[in-house]
Amino acid sequence: MPNPTHIQGVSISALADEFGTPLYIYDGEKITSQVKTLQEAFSAVPLKIKFATKALSNINILKLIRKAGAGIDAVSIEEVKLGMMAGYSAEEIMYTPSGVAFEEIQEAVNLGIMINLDSLPLMEQFGQVYSNSVAACIRINPHIMAGGNLKISTGHKESKFGISIEQLPQILEAVAKYKLQIIGLHIHTGSDILDAEVFLRGGNVLFEAAVQFPDLKFLDFGGGFKVAYKPNDIATDVMEVGKKVGEAFQSFCKQYGRQLELWLEPGKFLVSEAGYLLVKTNVVKESTSVTFVGVDTGLNHLIRPMMYDAYHSLYNLSNPEGKKAKYNVVGYICETDTIASHRELNEVKAGDLLVIKNAGAYGYSMASNYNSRLRPAEVLIWEGQARQIRKREKFEDLIRNQEILEF
Ligand SMILES: *Cc1c(COP(=O)(O)O)cnc(C)c1O
Repeated sequence: MPNPTHIQGVSISALADEFGTPLYIYDGEKITSQVKTLQEAFSAVPLKIKFATKALSNINILKLIRKAGAGIDAVSIEEVKLGMMAGYSAEEIMYTPSGVAFEEIQEAVNLGIMINLDSLPLMEQFGQVYSNSVAACIRINPHIMAGGNLKISTGHKESKFGISIEQLPQILEAVAKYKLQIIGLHIHTGSDILDAEVFLRGGNVLFEAAVQFPDLKFLDFGGGFKVAYKPNDIATDVMEVGKKVGEAFQSFCKQYGRQLELWLEPGKFLVSEAGYLLVKTNVVKESTSVTFVGVDTGLNHLIRPMMYDAYHSLYNLSNPEGKKAKYNVVGYICETDTIASHRELNEVKAGDLLVIKNAGAYGYSMASNYNSRLRPAEVLIWEGQARQIRKREKFEDLIRNQEILEF
């Protein structure tokens, strides 16, 4: 993984001059090439990709992903609406809620969106209101421990997500009672999954359950492909996953008696590596044991290091040849706000531009106004051109919805 000075021919430091820092930069070509890679890896099966919108929800990114031939998975009614604004038809959107109010489910159904039912009470409620008039999917918790760490594991026994596979009899009871039309079964076991083996184990859970559902059109294997975060880091071998899962899927379809579609919901895989957070060094502070580099961003803009202990590779754009030294790169938020510890960088001075990599997924979409800070601008590079796709916030944005009382 080289440290680029340019993205698709556009100079990164020129972007700092034009749009200021901190700045989220997305390489549109990288996003569409990731979509293509998945399409190729699973070319032996009828594949549908449903981008996990929550990873990066700017409407322009959603439009680009649609152009590349993928649909979306939404986890809130707001994401459903963003998807529709981006041009997705209702059939291209799946709504995977997690314990939301039934009004929200009804709103989505009214928009023509398919619901991924995530609890037995929701199946009951859904059945009472819609019976077999609206097709739906069921989210199964396969009881598989997988993913980079516990916070991003979603398919284990104690995870809140989906309906336990051990409750299959109750699921089938609800389906029979309300004559539910179940056209898909879904699992999503977590994030940063490395092995084809985990996807195969998930697949086996789906296959075993699927024979009980005669109306299926698809099986959804979720997302969670791991990407490389540092040099020599291992990423999911999607070609291997595609081949192995594809073969197992095709042989299941023979047994099932009908060709089904295979759905995937990648978030990170499509957008992580395409994103860069460009920041400026405010201060270099030598302490007795550590040299701190204080930058003009923090956990308000990129929370992954503090929330998940995520590793983000970064480099000094302003001094690519300088001698190496070790630094702790820290954010400006009044909390422990460490972006990178004991990291070797080319010598850093105040004013230097640093580039934080793998910032496309769960970067801007998890950003907040904590410490009453403004959120950065977002820039998309597409066909060799950099265009702002979201303005930097202003102070007025911060107070827009506050009612100022007279005392
Ligand atoms: C978050 C999420 C994904 C995407 O996970 P990644 O690790 O980003 O690939 C897929 N499906 C569902 C239901 C999710 O909640």
